[in-house]
Amino acid sequence: ILVPIGLAAGLMLSLLLSRFIRDFTSMPAMIRNGLKRQEFHLLYQPVIDIATGRTIGAEALLRWRRRNGEMIAPDHFIPIAEETGSIRQITRRVLELLTDDAPRLIDIAPDFHIGLNLSAADIHCPAIVRDVTAVVKHSGIKFENLLIEATERSFVDAGKAADAFRNFRSRGARIAVDDFGTGYSGLGYLAQLEVDYLKIDKLFVSTLGTGSATSQVAQRIIEIAKDLQLQVIAEGVETEDQAKMLGSLGVELAQGYYYSGPLTASALLERLRSEHHGRTRHRQLSAIAA
Ligand code: C2E
Ligand code: MG
Ligand code: MG
Ligand code: MG
Repeated sequence: ILVPIGLAAGLMLSLLLSRFIRDFTSMPAMIRNGLKRQEFHLLYQPVIDIATGRTIGAEALLRWRRRNGEMIAPDHFIPIAEETGSIRQITRRVLELLTDDAPRLIDIAPDFHIGLNLSAADIHCPAIVRDVTAVVKHSGIKFENLLIEATERSFVDAGKAADAFRNFRSRGARIAVDDFGTGYSGLGYLAQLEVDYLKIDKLFVSTLGTGSATSQVAQRIIEIAKDLQLQVIAEGVETEDQAKMLGSLGVELAQGYYYSGPLTASALLERLRSEHHGRTRHRQLSAIAA
């Protein structure tokens, strides 16, 4: 009986190992080819004002569809790109895609904010401010339209992160700490670094109302944000109950499947147009009533 178990375990191990080797040896080349062949595109997930239900912004999320139809998730290829050094090329592509999409979004909603995910390597690179400035210049949007999302990994080099954040903020962009509470950094940096938003990770949101220890942590995070006068964006809101609970805890902004998954730029425009139409109609009706 031990022989088949040993064989199965060996097979599993070599499968895992070969996957690992494939990813780390051929992934950089696959990414290079993918960039050349324009296999990347952006989707936009609406960010909602919980009280009014209005879409006030959207987070740009990268998608990779290979020529053979295979979709590779960012949680899979971004960490490998970070390890193997191709993340800077990916970010440049993201910025190009954003330059194409952003003008149409801002045209409908001038105060719209667009969430841009940057990796630690981007934040630590002195050229990043120039790269993002090029987007602003060529798309006609304002820095005020940009919400830079950085995870706690960028804080490992706190000096460089502080420089980049100060630079972005002095131009009018805002900074969000992404996946807050899942990293390993202490709270000290929050007081030192200039940031505007905390994005509470879906891990915490999903436990709200369960009375579990993790849901206590979620409530504490919201309190910390208030103490530091930071705005909170809740991620991964999947149910009405979660949205209500967040609202009653004083959280103003949320994103998640309950409101909408990530959309193509055109679908997001459609959504914005119909919301805008609803508002003008409402105004017209109240004007008639008055
Ligand atoms: P993130 O920035 O925390 O993005 C939120 C992730 O949660 C997205 O996954 C989104 O599709 C997913 N999500 C949204 N609503 C819900 C929900 O209600 N329930 C659940 N379970 N999930 C939800 P996605 O698009 O697969 O992206 C994963 C991560 O990849 C992102 O996490 C971000 O860290 C990274 N990423 C995505 N696009 C980029 C990019 O352009 N540049 C960089 N550097 N990283 C990116
Ligand atoms: Mg993000
Ligand atoms: Mg996040
Ligand atoms: Mg994440």
